[in-house]
Amino acid sequence: MIIVLKANASKEDKQRIIDKVHSLGLQTMVSAGVERSIIGVIGEEDKIRVQPLEAYPGVEHVIEVLSPFKLVSREFKPESSNIKIKDVTIGGEKIVIMGGPCAIENLETLREIALKVKESGATVLRGGAFKPRTSPYSFQGLGVEGLKIMKQVCDEVGLLSVTEVIDPRDVELMAEYVDIMQVGARNMQNFNLLKEIGRSKRPVLLKRGMMATIKEFLMSAEYILSEGNFNVILCERGIRTFETYTRNTFDINAVPAIKILSHLPIVVDPSHATGKWGLVTPISRAAIAAGADGLIVEMHVHPEEALSDGTQSLNPENFEAMIKQVGAVAQAVGRTI
Ligand code: PEP
Ligand code: MN
Repeated sequence: MIIVLKANASKEDKQRIIDKVHSLGLQTMVSAGVERSIIGVIGEEDKIRVQPLEAYPGVEHVIEVLSPFKLVSREFKPESSNIKIKDVTIGGEKIVIMGGPCAIENLETLREIALKVKESGATVLRGGAFKPRTSPYSFQGLGVEGLKIMKQVCDEVGLLSVTEVIDPRDVELMAEYVDIMQVGARNMQNFNLLKEIGRSKRPVLLKRGMMATIKEFLMSAEYILSEGNFNVILCERGIRTFETYTRNTFDINAVPAIKILSHLPIVVDPSHATGKWGLVTPISRAAIAAGADGLIVEMHVHPEEALSDGTQSLNPENFEAMIKQVGAVAQAVGRTI
């Protein structure tokens, strides 16, 4: 349930309603908009349905949210959310480009990649330290050593970092080393991980599960917001279909659909969505044309030698060319890069 307050509702009006909701054993989340505040009610709503909330001073109307997600919905927060991390804003007019290897391999290679990422105008370095590989025999990542390398390189080069967390017990540790925690497709419904990240209040990039519907995807985001963390960036990374030519099928529908349903920013991962480096640039252009707020793209100085996902990694030259092309599309749709 969402309680929309009148534009002229006083602080006392707002507090009276919050107290009432709390007295019924339910929780509230307040979205203070430019014009008016909106109170989201969380918990067993049957208790509150019988209350004549619209009779309270300051209440404009009460919306029964039909969608199962509330806090992520545009009904709860009509304005798009901007996630500000240091000097980067995700969800604003400017398109944010994140680039880097699939996995952090060693200090020298990551530094070399980071310099290229920076040179081409991107602002966030990606790279996994904990790799949830399909095979237990594939490279599993450098672990904490990788996080240290990531932090050192980002500090040296001047980039933000995004890296995956796979275990709720690592959330606190990650916060020391990285700017954005990534929840991978395979963990989209790892609810303990989502709740822990929710409690941490740190920025998170939540990837869509390979079998998840848009609704399930948004419900996973709801887990994080319901714990009080609104710093969520969604990421469409392709879903599994009957098509086998590509690694996944990029669901371009998800981008504008999520913009309608939610206030959260959404970025696209064209690397995992396609699995082929030759498709990454055209899909990046399409993503931005469809309204994505940014891209997270795999790039390696020597894709042929990458320890993981070399076949879908751009080399620095192609990465730079991709950003140029995406810049032209961004301009065409009223965004900047
Ligand atoms: C990744 O970004 O490194 C990754 C493993 O992606 P996904 O979780 O989307 O498969
Ligand atoms: Mn990868």
